[in-house]
Amino acid sequence: MAIKAPRGTFDILPDRATLWNRVEAAARKVFHLYGYGEIRTPIFESVKLFASSIGETTDIVEKEMYIFQKGRETYALRPEATASVVRAYIEHNLHKTRAFQKFYYIGPMFRAERPQAGRFRQFHQIGVEAIGSADPLLDAECITMAADLFGELGVGGFTITLNTLGTDESRGRYREVLSLHLRQNRDALCENCRARIERNVFRALDCKVEGCRRITRSGPNVQDHLTDADRESFEKVTNALTGAGVAHEVDGFLVRGLDYYTGLVYEFLHGGLGAQNAICAGGRYDHLVADRGGPDVGATGFALGMERLIMALVDAQRGEAKDPRTPQVMLVNVGDEPRTRIFQLVLELRRRNVAAEMDHEARSTKAQMRAANRLGAPFVAVIGEDELESGRLKIKNMHTGEETPATFDTIADVLTSKLKAPAPKHSES
Ligand code: ATP
Ligand code: MG
Repeated sequence: MAIKAPRGTFDILPDRATLWNRVEAAARKVFHLYGYGEIRTPIFESVKLFASSIGETTDIVEKEMYIFQKGRETYALRPEATASVVRAYIEHNLHKTRAFQKFYYIGPMFRAERPQAGRFRQFHQIGVEAIGSADPLLDAECITMAADLFGELGVGGFTITLNTLGTDESRGRYREVLSLHLRQNRDALCENCRARIERNVFRALDCKVEGCRRITRSGPNVQDHLTDADRESFEKVTNALTGAGVAHEVDGFLVRGLDYYTGLVYEFLHGGLGAQNAICAGGRYDHLVADRGGPDVGATGFALGMERLIMALVDAQRGEAKDPRTPQVMLVNVGDEPRTRIFQLVLELRRRNVAAEMDHEARSTKAQMRAANRLGAPFVAVIGEDELESGRLKIKNMHTGEETPATFDTIADVLTSKLKAPAPKHSES
């Protein structure tokens, strides 16, 4: 049987890659404006890094990691990148040069989940981490930046939901009242949630089982159990967002499935994505850097799912992007004879930064003209025996029909100056 790509993975073919590149370029543009620098970390790391950062009792660590052994080391394909960025920050002593640094990353992540629409085993995230500050305005900056990226791409239709679990004191208070409420309703909870009461009670808030949701939603809300300091800090974020014109809602039951989060958490949900509607998620992780042996500094960040963002883009019909392979000129051959000369001309044009193309499929002159039209080449030159002999040819403007004479020696100059001239109105700018 023919070998196929593994379940839950997919190929990005050139037609689609254009869109991916556009999303990445928009992210880089927005992140650079906000002062974030790119970081690229390995795609696999010691499994211990993820287990200790993300948390032993999380879904990711319990069942979703791709783990492999080589020699004495056990590695995992990265399921997310925050742990790696923090590791790099500490490993390279970045805090010694500048305690506060802002990073972004773009790349594949791996989780052994059940594949479905919007959920893959190899998927891609664009994420940011601002490490070295506990300033709530930095959280507001991250959220605004993600919203700006969606704006840059023309993606609307999402809502931003925020919550905070507060610092240790608020969290301790809430843990107590929530555990009590769940114990009182223990029999109606799913098996997982019953275990969660003891192991990690906040995880029950994230349960997808309808019965469990009903019970948690009828119970205590963390927003009612915050210390004054935690409430103030949370309000600094929401007020800054309001000031920035970023619409948002507060959901006192929102939690995230990774243990390293402290305080603020948030999610961007998109209306057009069905069940897998979380397009971006993040929050503050003020203990992670110190827990991993680094300085005691605050940190915050988010990750957005590229597959879901691209689904939303296509949904919003903002999915078209000009194909970067569109030739600027096609050199059409009449008969076989001129092809070697055409090959040389095409190369010369490309080296002068003109996207030139020729036929490699033994097509008729007519079929080549049709292809030029279909590909949207603005200029075409036909080269047959006469042209080969005289070294003279005509460059045809496919929009206006106008023909400009040139020679093999001047074709590059003529085309270069024509391509610099303002484009005709009906072509894409
Ligand atoms: P979900 O609730 O959808 O499982 P999550 O809480 O596991 O999301 P995070 O670990 O916070 O997600 O990752 C951030 C974002 O990455 C998600 O909001 C989503 O857009 C995307 N993402 C996570 N897992 C997958 C996956 N298996 N396939 C595609 N995208 C994903
Ligand atoms: Mg998940």
